Amino acid sequence: MLLSEFRGNAGVISELSAVMKNNTFPHAVIIDGAKGTGKRTLAGIIAQYCVCSSDNKPCGICSDCIKAQKGIHPDIFVADGYNVGEMNIEAIRNIRTSAYIKPNEAEKKVYLLFNCEKMLQPAQNAFLKVLEEPPENVVFIMTAVSASSLLQTVRSRSRIFSLYPPDAEQTIKFLSDRFPDKTSDEISKATTDSGGNIGGAIELLKGESEEARLLAEQILSAIPLSTEYNLLLLTNKAVQNRAFAVNVLDALCELSAECVMASAGVKNVSSIAEETAKKLSGKRLISLQSKISRARYLINTNLNLNLYGTWLCAELRNG
Ligand SMILES: [Zn+2]
Repeated sequence: MLLSEFRGNAGVISELSAVMKNNTFPHAVIIDGAKGTGKRTLAGIIAQYCVCSSDNKPCGICSDCIKAQKGIHPDIFVADGYNVGEMNIEAIRNIRTSAYIKPNEAEKKVYLLFNCEKMLQPAQNAFLKVLEEPPENVVFIMTAVSASSLLQTVRSRSRIFSLYPPDAEQTIKFLSDRFPDKTSDEISKATTDSGGNIGGAIELLKGESEEARLLAEQILSAIPLSTEYNLLLLTNKAVQNRAFAVNVLDALCELSAECVMASAGVKNVSSIAEETAKKLSGKRLISLQSKISRARYLINTNLNLNLYGTWLCAELRNG
């Protein structure tokens, strides 16, 4: 996601884009706000900005941005106050030491410190030392429900960005943009069920995407097997409704691309793609990828979903 796509909080966003444009990004920022206001999302955008290798940062498409999005950038370090031992005094001392080591690939190194309200005072004092003499090319991004849970001395050395929940109309607009495949009823239901909390609504809407991903993985694993019946059951399950089928096909597109990458020796792909790539020839994988992307395209045309499920099964079998 790019800064311009962040919902609401126009003041914070314009302030951030100004410091990004002027190249005056502070060494330390605190993003505070209630649960579900987008603290992590915003922290993620800033992290991308810090490591992005293009001129117009963050571009969202360079290899550094992609690695940042996938959570595998070697210059982005993450600690979460809710994970045991990640923000105790020893962990903070380690962060301090490592902060003085130069970045691996990017111009800047980023420390994402989530849920800093869990950082106890001795750890905060240890952290303060690195804020007092901040190493060059390092950005600390802290998130907390309230910045007041951090020591005044930490706050005064950081720039604070406070996020507020968007109103109902903004929430619905944001969710519709983010989940274009969902109907307005589904969006409204998720908004109501989550009590207007946008993070919660995303979880609910994504729940189905996760289910779709799981089914896509099952389909992928069934392709190399000899039993066609099982694959047919799975593809029929995928077409129970159009929105869900789109999610399954999207996940299959991603997985089949990963399989092709795995067969070309690329690491960092999902283990399921790695396994499948071992069972099928490179040629077959490439053909599968193109069949799946054609199937993904076809689903938006007005075809009969039941026939589509059977057709998809045959396509995948004969890929
Ligand atoms: Zn970039």
